Amino acid sequence: KRTPFIAGNWKMNLDHLQAIAFVQKLAWSLQDAKHDFDSVEVAVFPPFTDLRSVQTLVSADKLPLAYGAQDVSAQDSGAYTGEISGAFLSQLDCRYVIIGHSERRTLHAETDEVVRAKTAAALKHGIVPVICVGETAEDLEKHGSSAVPVAQLRAALEGVSADAEIVVAYEPVWAIGSGQAATPDQAEAVAAALRGVIAEALGDDAAARTRILYGGSVKSGNIAGFMREPNVDGALVGGASLDVTEFSNIARYQK
Ligand code: 13P
Repeated sequence: KRTPFIAGNWKMNLDHLQAIAFVQKLAWSLQDAKHDFDSVEVAVFPPFTDLRSVQTLVSADKLPLAYGAQDVSAQDSGAYTGEISGAFLSQLDCRYVIIGHSERRTLHAETDEVVRAKTAAALKHGIVPVICVGETAEDLEKHGSSAVPVAQLRAALEGVSADAEIVVAYEPVWAIGSGQAATPDQAEAVAAALRGVIAEALGDDAAARTRILYGGSVKSGNIAGFMREPNVDGALVGGASLDVTEFSNIARYQK
């Protein structure tokens, strides 16, 4: 049984002071609504500079929220100006790290090799990688929806051990920030194909246990449709994760 997972990718939004206020309000909002955190896991992915503040708040108030970083270095330490080691993230109790988001693939030229190395780095430091895959509008036209995400996930999983905990996020690039979400049917078809890749690479147990998220213009108004699909286990939410009420409503979706 896979625990549904609602994750908020803040991207480059909310400084550490805003993060403290936001996380407090989010926790209150969910607790007021009697959110059952065991039945739907909720996580936020703030910028690096917010993580220490979020850790302090979550641990001091014992908030039932998980958090993670938006990227990690493939290296452990050394002369890599501007990079952040997985060792530092695990010191801050980051449970998750997003790897290979399409904005990093396109704006920071992250290749499948880089994504694979970062996935390995996260696992080495005991952090669950949230591996992002997805096709562009052009890929969709040329190859259909599954081919590119399938190839990206195959590449990322090379060398990953069968017992590793990972999360996969299917984010069609054309759906990100466009207001044009995939349909639940489209998301389900690709999620099913991605589960097949996990089975091939890591075995049936891993495929049965691994959570696959959909991301791209998820809102409180469309989340339920995705969550009804058998292979979609949650959502990676961008814009709508920056509004406490909206994000809390997404986490409290009714199937
Ligand atoms: P939006 O929800 O803003 O479309 O962003 C999706 C995303 O990129 C999450 O990682």
